[in-house]
Amino acid sequence: MAIANENIFESFFRNSVEGILIFDKTGKIADINPAAKELFGIGINADNPKNVKDLIGIKYHEELWDICNRLLDHTEKKGTGNTLVIHNEGNREKNLILGLHLNNHIKLQENRYIAAFVTDETGRWKEKHELRQSHERFRKIFKYNPVAQLIIRESDSHIIDANNKFLNLFGYELDEVIGKDTATIGLDHCKECKVKISEAPDEHHIDNACEYDAQIKSGKVINLLQSYVLIKLHDVTHEIWSLADITEQKAAEGELKRSNEELEKKVTERTKDLANLLEREKRMNELKSRFVATASHEFRTPLTTILASAGLVETYARRMDTEKCLKHIDRIKASVELLTEILEDFLSLDKIEQGNVKPNITSFNLEDFAGNVMREAESTLKKGQSIEYSLTGDMIIKQDHNILKNTMLNLLSNAIKYSGEGANISWDISAQRDKTIITVADNGIGIPFDDQPYIFSRFFRARNAETIQGTGLGLNIVKKYIELLHGKISFVSTENAGTSFILELPVIN
Ligand code: ADP
Repeated sequence: MAIANENIFESFFRNSVEGILIFDKTGKIADINPAAKELFGIGINADNPKNVKDLIGIKYHEELWDICNRLLDHTEKKGTGNTLVIHNEGNREKNLILGLHLNNHIKLQENRYIAAFVTDETGRWKEKHELRQSHERFRKIFKYNPVAQLIIRESDSHIIDANNKFLNLFGYELDEVIGKDTATIGLDHCKECKVKISEAPDEHHIDNACEYDAQIKSGKVINLLQSYVLIKLHDVTHEIWSLADITEQKAAEGELKRSNEELEKKVTERTKDLANLLEREKRMNELKSRFVATASHEFRTPLTTILASAGLVETYARRMDTEKCLKHIDRIKASVELLTEILEDFLSLDKIEQGNVKPNITSFNLEDFAGNVMREAESTLKKGQSIEYSLTGDMIIKQDHNILKNTMLNLLSNAIKYSGEGANISWDISAQRDKTIITVADNGIGIPFDDQPYIFSRFFRARNAETIQGTGLGLNIVKKYIELLHGKISFVSTENAGTSFILELPVIN
């Protein structure tokens, strides 16, 4: 039975595809099977090597004897093995990586031996090595990715990993964020992204990104752009967040927007200026053509009078009729004055339109002012007409003397012109604490109700004034003058009963 067993063992030992090596505590090889010889690269038919040290490189000796001593001294638990992985330098051609699986010692004829099973670990080792390398490669790619990234467990939003760029950007250490809920470090996703993530299939790039303000550890707020990829790690869904700091970009965008707005504003202003210029140009052209039309009509009467009177002056001068000569000279003078007035109206309007009239505020005495205006106005009164004026309040006022004088002469000359002979005109100036109110009232022809809305329009003349000399410019000029003084002008009128013009001027301090 024992012989049979021995034979079986011998056959197993020789034919085993696994290498078997038996050596004693000095490393002396008791036996080595062909498979082991082959693995160590010494050839099946070669003599058995003497010592295990001859089989493995010197660098493994210490480790080998460490293990062997423990096994020989029983310090290792029974049944446990130890494996030594060696790069077999003896088998250079194949360059194998061998595993020496050392078992508890065996006793043969009172001697202790170590039995080592030798296996070719090259494939497995390479696989393991490649796996480790690939793991390291991807770990490094994540760690040193120039884009800040986080790996988040989807179920509880806990941070599983964070790369260097993220830690640098937010100022955290890795252990300060690992295991934390993203919300605790001020990170989240927008509602829209949340929905897209919840609806997305596994392993999916989310076609959406959030832009929001996040606070980093130092308290500084930065603008973030956050995008997502869903992945499965060990069957658990994770989100990879890529975060970009777009603070500078946002600031630049803001700057660009601001300068665009400014540019747009400037373009609008320039366009407006151009439109105004164009409008002014149009108005000036219209004014010029209206001037030609009005002038040819309005100039005809005084020019005819001048021509007729000049002829008569000649006739009467020959007859030495001084009285009649003087009468016609007066007519010539009045006609020339009328022509001058019409021309002055056109020139005033042109000056105002061009912005060339600027208020020149001075203090003056109201009584002197009223006296001057009265003298000029009275020279144009019709037969039996009179102007009654009253002044109340402070007699020293601050205003533009010339504008006020022209305005008054305009209103008074209208009152005279549109009232019949013997009519009474009243002129009141009340210098109150906060404003000056001036009224010019007459009992003349009045303004027809339907014409009243257009009375301040340039060249407008009411239906009932067509036979009376005029250009329709006076009230337009007056309104512009009053606007220059920041005042208001209004009127009340009833046809055939009379008209009152009321001015309200603010007090200037
Ligand atoms: P003009 O007197 O040269 O026609 P204005 O601009 O001074 O031009 O007046 C415009 C129009 O307003 C006049 O043509 C006239 O119809 C009306 N108007 C102005 N003042 C009076 C007034 N005191 N009474 C009646 N109508 C007036």
